[in-house]
Order: sequence, then C-alpha cells, then structure tokens
Amino acid sequence: MKERKIALITGASSGIGWSTALALAEKDYDLILCGRRSERLQQLSDTVKVETYQLIFDVRDKQAVFQAIEGLPERWKSINVLLNNAGNAHGLDAVQEANLDDWDAMIDSNVKGLMYVTKAVLPLLRESSWGHIVNVGSIAGKEAYPKGSVYCASKAAVQYFTDGLRLDLNPELIRVSAIHPGLVETEFSIVRFKGDTDRSKTVYQGADALRAEDVADAIVYMVEAPKSVTIADLVILPTRQASAYVINRES
Ligand code: NAP
Repeated sequence: MKERKIALITGASSGIGWSTALALAEKDYDLILCGRRSERLQQLSDTVKVETYQLIFDVRDKQAVFQAIEGLPERWKSINVLLNNAGNAHGLDAVQEANLDDWDAMIDSNVKGLMYVTKAVLPLLRESSWGHIVNVGSIAGKEAYPKGSVYCASKAAVQYFTDGLRLDLNPELIRVSAIHPGLVETEFSIVRFKGDTDRSKTVYQGADALRAEDVADAIVYMVEAPKSVTIADLVILPTRQASAYVINRES
C-alpha cells in the first residue's frame, strides 16, 4: 500500500493555516490540525475529505507542545510536512509606549513556540521517508517598520532560526524553508488591534491584499517541488505592496 503523506499545521484554525490545510488536502495529505480553538478545527476537519487528527495546545506552553506531539497515536507518528504557521502581532506601538504583555505574547508564540514545535516534531519527520519544515515568517522580518519593532524582531528571528535549521538538517536531507508574506487579509489585524474590526479594515484598504489562498498556493508549490529542490526563502507580496510600508493604495 502506498504511504500516505502527512502534514502537521500549527494555526490551522484561521487564515493562512486554514487555507493551507484545504490546499494540502486537495493534494491528498492527511492532516494534523493544531490550534487553540477546537470548534474551528472541528469545522475544518468536517470540510476536508482526507483523514485528520486535532491537537489543541498553546504553542507558548512548552510542556503542552511536547505532550501533544509525543502523545500522537502511532498512525500519525510519521510526518512529512511541518508548517510552523501559528503566530500573530499584538499591538502596534512605539517601543516607548508598548505594552510588555504584547511583547511577551509575540516572542513567546512567534519565536519560542515555533522553536518548541520544531524540536518536538523533528523525531517524527525522521520517521518518514522525506521531511520538510516550512516556517511562516513575514516581510516584517526582512525590514522593520515604525511601531512594529518587536513583531519585526520576532519574524527576523524566524528567518535566522530557519537558516540555522537548514544548516543543521543538511546531513539528514530534511528540507527547510521560510515563506515571508506581505499584507494578507486574515484575522491577523483583528488580533493585532484586539478585536477592533474598523481599525483592522484600514490596514487592507485599497491594498488589494493577498488572500490566505494565495499564500497557501505558494506553500503547496514549495512542498510539492521535487525532493531535490528546496525553495529556501520566498517573499510573497500583493502587487500594490513594494516593501513593509510602501503600499500603492487605490484611493
Ligand atoms: P490569523 O488568521 O490570526 O491566524 C493565526 C493562527 O495562529 C490562528 O490559527 C491561531 O489559532 C494561531 N495561533 C496564534 N497564537 C497561537 C498560540 N499561542 N498557540 C497556538 N496557536 C496560535 O493570522 P494569519 O494571517 O493567518 O497568520 C498566520 C501566520 O502568518 C502568522 O505567523 C503571522 O505572523 C504570519 N503573517 C501574516 C501576515 C498577514 O498580513 N496576515 C503577513 C505576514 C506573516 P488559535 O487562535 O485557534 O490558537
């Protein structure tokens, strides 16, 4: 019997993670769906035709991450693709004014959480015939923007962690990639602005932002490339966006 392909996706309950789950299901991957909102993950499971398994944990909780992943049933213990996507921005403030809880939330989820999940999943990637880790960075990790210093720093850390990991895993031929999106219209800004949907809409106004599906398509392209090919670092922007903060908005 042909081996089933398995992808583990963090932050599958919304946005880029959700869309990538749908896109990988179309490519016949069975899915381990991770997030904190179990009802969303159930809804996603009910939507796809492949087999799914849900893991509910907060990526900031080191113990919960390892317990969840080490506790996977045998059938799910050989993983091909890890999509480290869970993360968010919290607040948009100058360093002088910023809230320390927002800083902790970003560093603990975007940086440390991604590292914990990677470390926990690595033995399971080794169990399968091929493995690929795709980390979701951001254009913010390439270039700082005003009031975004800690979010930008967290995504720059994703960039350098990815590069180091690629070096470390080179002897094992496990592929390691990062994708860095520009503006994508998801729940991202609603989380950043703590539920203020009016303010979050202004982020995308006239920008013809990427859809989560656009990013998902690119991730599928990276993952489905021939095994001899690694798309190491991919920046994807809406055409109206030229840099982290240069956006040609339609008026
Ligand atoms: P989103 O719609 O808000 O989705 C964020 C996902 O991350 C949710 O599924 C959320 O799930 C999960 N998550 C957040 N904190 C978590 C935690 N502590 N533990 C477990 N799961 C957590 O935003 P998105 O745009 O799809 O964001 C996905 C990734 O893309 C993030 O890393 C973000 O930084 C990056 N990104 C986004 C943009 C953009 O413009 N949207 C641009 C560049 C990069 P639960 O709430 O269910 O836990």
